[in-house]
Amino acid sequence: MIGPIRRFRRWKISRRPFPQEWRGYLSEHFACYRMMPPEWRNRYEHMIRIFIAERHWIPAAGMVIDDRVKVIIAGAAVRLVLRLGLEYYDRMREIVVYPYVYKHKDERGMMIFGEAHPWGTVVLSWPAVLHGLANPCDGENTALHEFAHILDRDDGAFNGTPFLHSREDYGPWAEVMARHFELLKLGGPEELAVLRMYGATNPAEFFSVATEAFFEIPSVMQGQMPELYEVMKKFYGGDPFTYGLCPRRL
Ligand SMILES: [Zn+2]
Repeated sequence: MIGPIRRFRRWKISRRPFPQEWRGYLSEHFACYRMMPPEWRNRYEHMIRIFIAERHWIPAAGMVIDDRVKVIIAGAAVRLVLRLGLEYYDRMREIVVYPYVYKHKDERGMMIFGEAHPWGTVVLSWPAVLHGLANPCDGENTALHEFAHILDRDDGAFNGTPFLHSREDYGPWAEVMARHFELLKLGGPEELAVLRMYGATNPAEFFSVATEAFFEIPSVMQGQMPELYEVMKKFYGGDPFTYGLCPRRL
């Protein structure tokens, strides 16, 4: 539930026309936007505007955060919750953006290009965001990855399980996720055909890596790991609009 002040602010935002140049940024960077039917486009644009207005945007190390940067980052974030609703991001207040490839080593010494903190801040490298969007068919997308961590954390822990829609969903989710996580660690051929090896780090990374693949190469995931595809589809609420765009991972 949102309070009356926020509802009023959202109503005010929704009365302004969506800027034409923002449509250009979305068309350029999001194949899914180009493929959406009009009613979904309207919903997507509306949620993007609200998402932008309700976040603190924090430039780091001389980064300039202009409308283009905000629209593209919001475009990635909203893509994940297009059917879930913006309340999944309620506890995420801040987005920090670096102008260079912000990277540091995680506990296993692997390079990572963004961060999602438990206290509601996402840290992104702008070049890594653009790089992730440049190829919509490789199953790798930094922004989708980091925002998936936010959905995961929404239930209070980074454990690879977001709030699912009903109690009955948790059993199949846990079973399918754990099985493919273990198989990825062992180098299973179906898993490696779809997922980055980084997903074998822990269950939270597995969920974020699986999210990247679900949105970029859904038909590949469905072919290789139909059960994983089904639980992801049930959570995210339907086929991504890129379905069929990427018949194989490029
Ligand atoms: Zn991660």
